[in-house]
Amino acid sequence: MGAESLLDRFMPRCQTTAPSRRQLLGSAAGVLALGCGGAGKTGTDSADTGAPADPAGTCGPDAPTPQGDPSTAAESPFDSNPFGLGVASGDPRHDRVIIWTRLVVEATDVAQSPPAPADVVWELATDSAFDNIVQQGMFTTTPERAHAVHVDVDGLESATTYWYRFRCGDHDSPVGRTRTLPCDDARPESVRIGFAVCQNWMAGFYAAYRHMAEQQLDLVVHLGDYIYEAGETGAVRDHGAPECTTLDDYRNRHGLYRSDADLQAAHGSAPWALIWDDHEVDNNHAGAHLDSPDLAQRRAAAYQAWLEHMPVREALTADPSEGIVVHGVLDFGRLARVLLLDGRQHRDAQPCGGGIGASCDEVDDERSFLGDEQDAFVDDVVGNNPADWVLVANPVVMLPLDLGGAFLNPDQWDGYPRARDRFLAAVAAGAEGRTVLYTGDIHAGGAGVVPSTPDDYTSAPGVAELVVPPISSRFTDPVADTLGPLLSQQEHIAWWDWTVNGWAEAEVREDAVVTTMYSVTDVTDPASAVTVLKRWTVAPGALMPTES
Ligand code: FE
Ligand code: CA
Repeated sequence: MGAESLLDRFMPRCQTTAPSRRQLLGSAAGVLALGCGGAGKTGTDSADTGAPADPAGTCGPDAPTPQGDPSTAAESPFDSNPFGLGVASGDPRHDRVIIWTRLVVEATDVAQSPPAPADVVWELATDSAFDNIVQQGMFTTTPERAHAVHVDVDGLESATTYWYRFRCGDHDSPVGRTRTLPCDDARPESVRIGFAVCQNWMAGFYAAYRHMAEQQLDLVVHLGDYIYEAGETGAVRDHGAPECTTLDDYRNRHGLYRSDADLQAAHGSAPWALIWDDHEVDNNHAGAHLDSPDLAQRRAAAYQAWLEHMPVREALTADPSEGIVVHGVLDFGRLARVLLLDGRQHRDAQPCGGGIGASCDEVDDERSFLGDEQDAFVDDVVGNNPADWVLVANPVVMLPLDLGGAFLNPDQWDGYPRARDRFLAAVAAGAEGRTVLYTGDIHAGGAGVVPSTPDDYTSAPGVAELVVPPISSRFTDPVADTLGPLLSQQEHIAWWDWTVNGWAEAEVREDAVVTTMYSVTDVTDPASAVTVLKRWTVAPGALMPTES
């Protein structure tokens, strides 16, 4: 806290060449001696001095990469205000973050956008009034990328809040808040991470996002089903277009979702990190199982539209027809490692025809879920991690839910048991007793532990699993009425509720991960109240979430 307030006072004068927090913390005399020209990365290591660990770590910013010159911005080809999709930021590191916007004439019709490039000026400041702008630049976007803007702003201070905005012609965007990660060797006291998943436009409104936006989180993680590809009219809202198959279909669907003011507010409130699930492409999408050129083309279209709309670094370089990198890792110093899993792009087809309730010998076959490259990545980042906690953004349920064969969803990890064993072995080797999954897809809230031997519910806990309530989607199958109570009675499951919408907030501390489940009272009302439903504590080593 002391370091933060000292730095906040210091930053306005020194901007991005400020000394590292370690230097600031060293002594008041050190601050005076260094002045504004002090370089980062020169702090002494506490191992050398015997001093207590520095809570802020020892990294410092490099000089920012030169960006486009705002004074050369050409006249805008957009007649009206093009910022109808709001702003976003994401993929933070200790010295950088992606800032995003996309220029549109009409959110749901990319064909109305002008067929010309557009110069977009951006500014980043240490205050929301932009009195202290620390960086600015210009990004030229084109119709080929649907006028999406992704800027990798680097040279930033670690664990620091910034505000950003864009300008095109005479039009200003809304202001977004973002935040860099701590240094890799930092020891923050706590971090607060929001988890969102399954936001079917047709099923309800986004009161959950309105509430999330008020929380000023360190990070928001989206677990997938960001859009739904289907074309039906809905129970609460309509998609107003047929099922997505072409690039423009997917662009317009993302545009529709992003036109929602509450979703925009959540994006503008914190940096996001995103994985995906099936509906970003198609129901039960299994990316390594492409059996037709049409499907390959559809997949590439869906991937490109996803990159155009998400504040991810991958958008700057990827060729979607070759596949894209969604998995990744974000470190909150030595407190928490956040592992992002891509459970769709590299998986083999579901066993037993994929239908719920199916069961066949095929289930036990060796079958890829994460793919070889991502398996090796998991081994590396889980096996060699110095953090107190590993939080896993997990797209589908890992808890065994087979109820003795009465209910098996082969689209979940249950359909890929050998891959689940492999993942649990990686956790046992590198992060035993301190790994917590945050899971999407199933349109339920839940809490439990994946047994280390999933077939044996009485075996030692392998990982904790919190199932994140969907933002708006519903599981309306009548089977839910009987299965929900049955699941809650399983000894590895502490709670299961198929009637809840909302979101989850993880407060990560050295001694516990406390997860608050928030509930939307009425998902058909955009102004609905949002209240605390459950609060689950996972303690190191114990893993089974306990209610408090
Ligand atoms: Fe979903
Ligand atoms: Ca799903």
